[in-house]
Amino acid sequence: MEAFTSAAYNQYLGERELMGTRCRVDGRVYLPPRAICREGHDEIEWIELAGQGTLAAFTVVYVALSAMIAEGFNRQNPYCVGIVRLAEGPAISAQILGVDIKHPEQIQIGMPLKAIYVERGEAAARRTFLAFEPV
Ligand SMILES: [Zn+2]
Repeated sequence: MEAFTSAAYNQYLGERELMGTRCRVDGRVYLPPRAICREGHDEIEWIELAGQGTLAAFTVVYVALSAMIAEGFNRQNPYCVGIVRLAEGPAISAQILGVDIKHPEQIQIGMPLKAIYVERGEAAARRTFLAFEPV
């Protein structure tokens, strides 16, 4: 796959591969992928990320996005969204699973996380989403 698009990124996710892009000039890593480096370089390549990171920030979402309402999340069944700082450098927003949302004081900034892949939606709308859980 040569096009550094979100469609290509999602296709990789469907194969349970976490792929970002890396600038060949300065080594910066991007997730989601970018076709052009923040510094303007366009010598970009795909890089498979290890899926390991740490929790940089999080929030508990009580008013769910529509796609999440369809998955049964709501005010009575909230979910956790975090910013995960990956070992390779970039930070990405994703759902955090395997944490006790009823006791958010137990969710620790800096806790180690690993990537997991969650299937959502029916039939043709079925997609693989990136999520994280404690190691
Ligand atoms: Zn660059």
